[in-house]
Amino acid sequence: VRFEEMGLLPEIVKAVKNMGFEEASPIQAKAIPVMRTGKDMIGQAQTGTGKTAAFGIPLLEKIEPKDRKLQAIVLCPTRELAIQVAEEIRSLAKYMHGIKVLPIYGGQEIVTQIRSLKSGAQLVIGTPGRVMDHMRRKTIKMEEVHTVVLDEADEMLNMGFREDIETILEGVPVERQTVLFSATMPQAILDITKKFQKKAELIKV
Ligand code: AMP
Repeated sequence: VRFEEMGLLPEIVKAVKNMGFEEASPIQAKAIPVMRTGKDMIGQAQTGTGKTAAFGIPLLEKIEPKDRKLQAIVLCPTRELAIQVAEEIRSLAKYMHGIKVLPIYGGQEIVTQIRSLKSGAQLVIGTPGRVMDHMRRKTIKMEEVHTVVLDEADEMLNMGFREDIETILEGVPVERQTVLFSATMPQAILDITKKFQKKAELIKV
């Protein structure tokens, strides 16, 4: 499928072209229309399939740039992935105005992160431990968060982030879209799905 035929914002079509993408990858062709309906979704996809843009594009379309409050959050297992996802989403948002994407991860100076959060990011890409830390300090506000993406959810569980993920999801308004990407679907993932998603649509590539 060509991006032009997907009814995306012209700014996003321009950005994907600029990034050298010609056609939507299979996960993008399947996941973007589902995510745009606002339904909960499970994407079973390996890394390298284009899953970042598969959730990044519909996320950007849901952000209200005039509202400076946090609106969406992506949880990733590692700081490297958080940085990489933030960079890709920033590239996708290149021609959109007023959207701030902030990576938040452990090991980075917390005071610097607090300052960045205060200046108003609508989209945070974070590792679970550090996001939890900000929730406890009340330096991250979840009341306007309408979308949560769990990226590489199986990896996050393997790394022992289950409790942190659950605490974060419990702190986000229930009227939200919850999207989960995972390469594998072990029982622990199905448990998270059952507990935190509503009628999630499963997409596989
Ligand atoms: P990901 O699975 O999100 O880590 O993406 C793997 C790589 O594919 C990244 O370098 C992306 O920039 C690139 N990519 C994502 N979508 C497309 C696409 N539709 N066409 C070409 N390359 C893409």
